[in-house]
Amino acid sequence: MLIVKKFGGTSVANKERIFNVAKRCIADFKKGHDVVVVLSAMGKYTDELITKAKEINPNPPKREMDMLFTIGEQMSVALMAMAMDQLGVRSISLNAFQVGMHTTKTYGNARLKRIDTERIKQELEDRKIVIVTGFQGVNKYDDYTTLGRGGSDTTAVALAAALHADSCEIYTDVDGVYTADPRLVPNARKLNAITYDEMLDLASLGAGVLHNRSVEMAKKYGVQLVVRSSLNESEGTVVKEVVKNVERMLISGVALDKNADRISVFGLPDVPGTVFKLFNTLAKANINVDIIIQSAGHDGTKDVSFTVSGDNLEEAMAILQERKDYLGFERIESDCDIVKLSVVGAGMMSNPGVAAKIFECLYNINVNIHTIATSEIRITVLIPAKDAVAAMNAVHNAFELRE
Ligand code: ASP
Ligand code: MG
Repeated sequence: MLIVKKFGGTSVANKERIFNVAKRCIADFKKGHDVVVVLSAMGKYTDELITKAKEINPNPPKREMDMLFTIGEQMSVALMAMAMDQLGVRSISLNAFQVGMHTTKTYGNARLKRIDTERIKQELEDRKIVIVTGFQGVNKYDDYTTLGRGGSDTTAVALAAALHADSCEIYTDVDGVYTADPRLVPNARKLNAITYDEMLDLASLGAGVLHNRSVEMAKKYGVQLVVRSSLNESEGTVVKEVVKNVERMLISGVALDKNADRISVFGLPDVPGTVFKLFNTLAKANINVDIIIQSAGHDGTKDVSFTVSGDNLEEAMAILQERKDYLGFERIESDCDIVKLSVVGAGMMSNPGVAAKIFECLYNINVNIHTIATSEIRITVLIPAKDAVAAMNAVHNAFELRE
């Protein structure tokens, strides 16, 4: 069997943990499996690098940021290879250059295009454990790039796809994917299995367990993932295409996104092209827009409101203000005191009444819903930030997700 094992920052945060990871990898290796290990930078090292950079230059060039970032993962793989050597097992560390991890040219947020597998295969054939840097790549200028924060998951899935691995295990500091963030919902429980689509919704909604793009890639190439803890032996959560009925619940999870802010644009002209102009203006500035609602027109005008991520709020407001005459609105407002609560579950598709149950439950605890958006497997509501935790727990309990 060929196994790809990815370990995040907390799993390699210190000497003891590095040896712990080394031993887990060696155990599989000694069973006769081929083992490829993907590592993140130790602990919060990537954050520390950002701090260091900003001490020198508050706005560091992206290319140089990537140049700096790559040392974090490189440190982890080298130390891991040393640990394995110390334990008497042959291994080799490789960075993105040595492997040939080809990405698009964008610094800071590159996409993987192609992975050369020759070197890795050669080393595996030579019976070594191969330890690869996560998060980093190389672009067509032979420069280092990175895949965006949390990108090591994507490196692991891409490697598993390219090598046709039999399994891809993502080790983290939690036991798996939970029905809700256990820090906010104390009786949340671990899921045994979840579909790619549900995971995608949960990942992009701030569940924070897996890098979004890693799930997209796993779905595209049919790589079955296991998310599990590096600190204990528990089974973890399997992420796959279809989840069997016995494993399935109506709802898989409740996610909270605190980083959503709302912008409302009042008094736009009620004529064709208005919303095109509005959202095109934002798209050109690279601002991602989520949940959009448009009110029914009145007196030749209409109102539109939408959410943006908190990091983009100021910029979005400034751009709209600047283009006020072109867009033709009367005024704009922003609201930071809202959160996005989402309920996700493939079971919704065949079970009517899920939305009603959520609304009832929010009504019972007197929460006012600003906006609603739905997809086949997800219902999202914007609610006041102060009600977030209560709402999350209420919805979680209503669907009997608790232990
Ligand atoms: N070290 C990188 C980060 O902190 C990549 C990763 O951990 O996946 O974002
Ligand atoms: Mg991560």
